[in-house]
Amino acid sequence: MLRFPFVYISLFATAAYIDIVLTGIYDKLKETEERARYLYRHDALTGIYSRHAFYEELEKILKAPSDMPVSLALMDIDGFKEINDKYGHNAGDEILKELSCIILENVCEHGIVCRWGGEEFVLFSRCGHDLYLICEEIRRIIEKAAVIYEDTELYVTLSIGIAVAESINELQLNDFINCADTAMYISKKDGKNKTTVRNFAVAENLKILEKNT
Ligand code: GH3
Ligand code: MG
Ligand code: MG
Repeated sequence: MLRFPFVYISLFATAAYIDIVLTGIYDKLKETEERARYLYRHDALTGIYSRHAFYEELEKILKAPSDMPVSLALMDIDGFKEINDKYGHNAGDEILKELSCIILENVCEHGIVCRWGGEEFVLFSRCGHDLYLICEEIRRIIEKAAVIYEDTELYVTLSIGIAVAESINELQLNDFINCADTAMYISKKDGKNKTTVRNFAVAENLKILEKNT
């Protein structure tokens, strides 16, 4: 008769132990999943949004109704390869980190900033602020900001292209980015350290005209 309580207690203890082990495994899996999601959404060097996060955020924003105009800036560091070649890759990395901080500090709460890749950054906004003025402010701050690397003051400049439109849908996003990219190349061709604005609707109409002629 004495065996029954013993069996019950043993079963209860085993079940409790299994529960603790499973909860531990579940917590670890959740932690790993959160970490993987963070790495997917953030650039490892600068900590700002990755391209994946940028697309996820933009999809949400563009699905929501709004009558605010949209603008997107593509920023490219001028002559960055030369900096890497002259001062080393670590010096280049310090510049990328400093630059992303400056961009973040100068955008409003509606701005979505991401590291587009390499030495290129993208800034999207759908609000009443003029992105040209914001980008010009960022460009001026950066040309004067010294990045100290091993007792050397390093300076860089940015070439910026901005696409503007009354509105765009998700399907037009890549064309909108290409429009900003074209504007950025105009800034490069114009001698770098400049901001060029391109109207998306006008650019698209020109494309249609070119196709039909
Ligand atoms: P341009 O004025 O025409 O833009 O010239 P550029 O030298 O900036 O452009 P280019 O495309 O020739 O070189 C880009 C350089 O950016 C080359 C690459 O080594 C560097 N780069 C890309 N990603 C990183 C990074 O994560 N860290 C560092 N330090 N350099 C990077
Ligand atoms: Mg580039
Ligand atoms: Mg460059």
